[in-house]
Amino acid sequence: PSPALNVRGLSVTFGTRQGPVPAVVDVDLDVAPGELVALLGESGSGKSVTARAVMGLSTGNASVTAEQIRLGDTDLLALPESEHRKLRGARMSLVFQDALSALNPVLSIGDQIGELFRTHRGMSRRQARAEAVNLLGQVGIPAPTRRVNDYPHQFSGGMRQRILIAMAIALRPELIIADEPTTALDVTVQAQILELLDSLRRELNMAVLLITHDLGVVSEVADRILVMYAGRIVESGTADDLLSRPGHPYTQALLRSVPQADTRGQELYAIPGSPPSPANQPSGCPFHPRCTWAVDECKTTRPLLTLLAGGRAAACHRTEEVLDAAVTG
Ligand code: SF4
Ligand code: MG
Repeated sequence: PSPALNVRGLSVTFGTRQGPVPAVVDVDLDVAPGELVALLGESGSGKSVTARAVMGLSTGNASVTAEQIRLGDTDLLALPESEHRKLRGARMSLVFQDALSALNPVLSIGDQIGELFRTHRGMSRRQARAEAVNLLGQVGIPAPTRRVNDYPHQFSGGMRQRILIAMAIALRPELIIADEPTTALDVTVQAQILELLDSLRRELNMAVLLITHDLGVVSEVADRILVMYAGRIVESGTADDLLSRPGHPYTQALLRSVPQADTRGQELYAIPGSPPSPANQPSGCPFHPRCTWAVDECKTTRPLLTLLAGGRAAACHRTEEVLDAAVTG
């Protein structure tokens, strides 16, 4: 199927007193209708900046360039801001981590959801209220007919996140970008919210780009995974391939740092060091100071994202060996 979202060569560069600082470099990404793609990386890797750029939201004093950003057959790069704004919420929407600050504290949930239908669909107050009740039911809010009159603070964190998702899907967008939608929630509620996103994208044939730092979160629901490090995609492929046989040492390290049933009670692996700041990138492979596979070449030569068998890709000088190691254990 032709992608719902199609991005080629996206770069975002911040202007600073020290000069231009690249936060996102040459990112390609596609999400097909009904597909859930995870954009995975530690905080500061450029994931949220990528999301904002795709949505056409302000990225501060950054310059955004791309060869292509398309939503279905619409060329987003050619759209004036006023047109872009109309698409947001209608054809693509964003779900944030912090539902409490994304919702208006002094409006009932029904009024907030209803507002979308009244503005975009020209519905009457009564029709909009009825739609809001339907939506709340669809995202699993119990007793929606009663709860539609409640205010955000009267809901639990998990329920508030469901309400944000209800608002995001209200106008049946082709694309949802969920930026760390479950980070603030406890593990059980996280799983429930992911299940909800997972079932809704199938039901509504929506493309979902799920942004997260938590590989545990994506392993159950993602069809494909893009791993981001220091502003670039360093590995991409199906979730099955990446999780069973990572081809990049960074993906491998992220996997090792996810709690597994058989590692319970053991001390969890933590990747040494921290990701580089965009203003101060290491030479060669940006992962080399933290990489257990690093060789001399890694300090001088940046590996390019290279297509491998099976439609996957990795940016590492030693991918073949890393893949072999995964197989032989
Ligand atoms: Fe590690 Fe070298 Fe591969 Fe970078 S290129 S991930 S430093 S082995
Ligand atoms: Mg972020």
